Amino acid sequence: MQLKDYIQKALKNHFALGAINFCNMESLQGIIEASKERLSPMIVSVSEGALCYMGEFTTYLFEAGKKIYPHIFLHLDHGKSFEVCKMAVDKGFDSVMIDGSALSFDENVAVTRRVCQYAHSKNVLVEGELGQIKGVEDSVSNNFQHYTNPLKAKEFVDKTNVDTLAIAIGTSHGAYKYSGEKTLRFDILEDIERLLPSFPLVLHGASTVEQSLTNKINIYGGNVNKANGIPKDLLVKAIKEHNIIKINTDTDIRMAMTGQVRQLLAENPSEFDPRKYLGSGREQIKQVIIDKIDNIFFSNNQI
Ligand SMILES: [Zn+2]
Repeated sequence: MQLKDYIQKALKNHFALGAINFCNMESLQGIIEASKERLSPMIVSVSEGALCYMGEFTTYLFEAGKKIYPHIFLHLDHGKSFEVCKMAVDKGFDSVMIDGSALSFDENVAVTRRVCQYAHSKNVLVEGELGQIKGVEDSVSNNFQHYTNPLKAKEFVDKTNVDTLAIAIGTSHGAYKYSGEKTLRFDILEDIERLLPSFPLVLHGASTVEQSLTNKINIYGGNVNKANGIPKDLLVKAIKEHNIIKINTDTDIRMAMTGQVRQLLAENPSEFDPRKYLGSGREQIKQVIIDKIDNIFFSNNQI
């Protein structure tokens, strides 16, 4: 099945496609091993920052992974311009996100429509974004939460022809998601769904930042004391009762690997074999993703 088929299946069966960011071989391996074990489709995302970091290895690593497990799809996360999206389309990505959310509505429509015209001509899907998601992720930084305006969302989808839409209803990027009440604006989500029935929607900044992950980093010399994420039950509700079919996760994977590497090196000070600590980090990533597949995405046995 192609990615567009999995999106329709996710809408129908109320599960979500995880969209997990990777930045090296070990993180991609961890994602693939978890997906393969749980028979789950999975989107593997790269930000512009990850593309810079991995360079040409990005698509070669993905192609190797796709040979091992064909139910993964390569996605560009937060493409900031037509040129970056075009480059990803030309490199064979399955889908691209054009993030024009910092632009005016009309400018966002214009660049998103242009990306759609090009990408669709090459059978590549496009995710747009309307509203602004708070927080910091790679080059994406924003101090304010601007919730998605439902009427504008309808107009945006009609004018651009995007395949999926990232909306802002209270999730945020990074490891410090809430300073107050942990909530999501389900009222806005419902309004969007009334105007755009059966349209596939996306949540960014949806790491749960479990206490066990932050504890491990803090115990072994790190300092991420105030880190917190989106409560699991809110994500489950968004998937089971609404049209959220893609859940973006980056922070949890970074934390899983960092905590595990810290612990291994702290407990084994004479260790200097990267295979030992990176391999251990990879296993931790796998376990975190298996937990998400089973308890948040419900994408197990959906291939
Ligand atoms: Zn994002």
